Amino acid sequence: MGSKKKNHHKRQYAVIGLGRFGGSVCRELHRMGHEVMAIDIDPEKVDKYKGYCTYAARLDSTDEKQLHSIGIRNFEDVVVAIGDNIQASILTTLLLKEEGVAKVWAKAQNSYHQKVLDKIGADVVVHPEFDMGKRIAHNIVSDRVIDYIDLSDDYSMVELLATSKIDGETLASLELRARYGITLIAIKDGESMTISPRPDEAIREENILLVIGHNDDLERFEEKEL
Ligand code: ATP
Repeated sequence: MGSKKKNHHKRQYAVIGLGRFGGSVCRELHRMGHEVMAIDIDPEKVDKYKGYCTYAARLDSTDEKQLHSIGIRNFEDVVVAIGDNIQASILTTLLLKEEGVAKVWAKAQNSYHQKVLDKIGADVVVHPEFDMGKRIAHNIVSDRVIDYIDLSDDYSMVELLATSKIDGETLASLELRARYGITLIAIKDGESMTISPRPDEAIREENILLVIGHNDDLERFEEKEL
């Protein structure tokens, strides 16, 4: 394994299940220049993704022998993107952990599936429809919320659009920490981005503020200051 640009260690990825979700994960990893193996039980899918991965393999990921024969344990990250067939998704995840794959990412179809995947040792469980739905809801409720990411049940990171109300204010004048207990991580101004802004850095209308904090505090800040 050679080294990629900068200090990035070249990692090997595998994506099992080439539906819309798995397919887009595969394409994007490939587009970024990573080595990615695309796996599906359906020969048509394997054929379709030949041009968007490093290797494409047709196999049944619930078959231990087949997984073993391609040396799945050599892949550091494996994405299980089998949706409809929950049983196959669970069995695949289990086998991958047994084979010694360091990090298994699994897509959950519903919250029961999510619980089971967590229990059997999936390292990261994603529920794309659910996660995206929550993000869109925040966006619908307030047009000042550009993006929203849950960090835990109570904490999140949000991108907020600075209005004219806050134009010219600074971190110091807003007293974000003292009055709201939230942290401004970055200010985006068009293409440029100021990470860890200084206390005297002025905020301008139309800037995007990247803020982290307790949901209640973030809401309070948004209502009062924006
Ligand atoms: P989408 O991401 O499009 O919503 P989905 O969640 O409906 O997709 P499925 O169509 O259920 O996902 O499955 C994704 C892929 O997983 C399919 O292409 C399917 O052929 C593949 N797949 C299902 N079972 C296995 C298996 N045992 N081994 C390998 N691939 C499998």
